[in-house]
Amino acid sequence: MPCVFCEIVAGRIPAKVAFQDEAVLAFHDINPQAPVHLLVVPKQHVTSLLDLTPAEDALAGRLVRSARDLARELGLGERGFRLVFNCGADAGYSVFHIHLHLLGGRKLSWPPG
Ligand code: AMP
Ligand code: ZN
Repeated sequence: MPCVFCEIVAGRIPAKVAFQDEAVLAFHDINPQAPVHLLVVPKQHVTSLLDLTPAEDALAGRLVRSARDLARELGLGERGFRLVFNCGADAGYSVFHIHLHLLGGRKLSWPPG
């Protein structure tokens, strides 16, 4: 089975792209859990947080900074937003290409469900 997010990066599966550069792609989640729900992914395949190595430190930083920039551009800088990396079954990790969720536009409860 091809990786869904690699297919999106390659343009073979459509997505509503919000931002991209040479290393990062951000697109709208197909099943949004908040008024703003974007996924920020590396263009290179990394299976999960458990697979991140020191060689990917800069990439991880780019994911976070890209998501922060998008949040700001979408007007969430003042009111707030949440960035989430799920990992593993207990967190409901379901697409095995690392992705950072950007959630915002409504009050987000804590602790999360
Ligand atoms: P996670 O539970 O962290 O693995 O989240 C995977 C996310 O990917 C879910 O929020 C899904 O709604 C989202 N998703 C799955 N397939 C697609 C797709 N083709 N386009 C956009 N988002 C997707
Ligand atoms: Zn992939």
